[in-house]
Amino acid sequence: MSKPLAKTARLAPKWRALAEARCADQGERLTPARLSVYAELLACDRPLSAYELMALLEQRQQRKIAPLTVYRHLKFLMRIGVVHRLQSAQSYVPCDHPDHPHDSQFLLCSSCGHVDEVESRGIETMLSQIADERGFRPDHTVVEIKGVCGTCADSDPD
Ligand SMILES: [Zn+2]
Ligand SMILES: [Zn+2]
Repeated sequence: MSKPLAKTARLAPKWRALAEARCADQGERLTPARLSVYAELLACDRPLSAYELMALLEQRQQRKIAPLTVYRHLKFLMRIGVVHRLQSAQSYVPCDHPDHPHDSQFLLCSSCGHVDEVESRGIETMLSQIADERGFRPDHTVVEIKGVCGTCADSDPD
């Protein structure tokens, strides 16, 4: 379930720099507490719920952390655009390309839990056309596709 502590979150400089740039854009600061939440997400190869994150942080920092604190940091990380929330799984993943604002589509593997983030202009255009034709004004679009990833499909004996 939870990843081994040894594999700890040494945040790759690239991701940290991108997150800091997003903060600077919005006149915000990447505090150590915010950074620690981001680092846990980056260190894990599957989405994490707020409670899983809380448990990992408590284990690492050897102290109690309130769920609200975790939610607050997650909200911040989503606001600056470095973390996405998966609606269907009620969990969080680090963005694959936080260098620009975007809508995302996600492919969720039900076998290994891997999440693939794609950014398809074609899908976005098509969805906004459909909404347009109906006079509908979307404010948030969620595209999450559940299934089995290529790696899992290949290793399936059937
Ligand atoms: Zn993204
Ligand atoms: Zn898989």
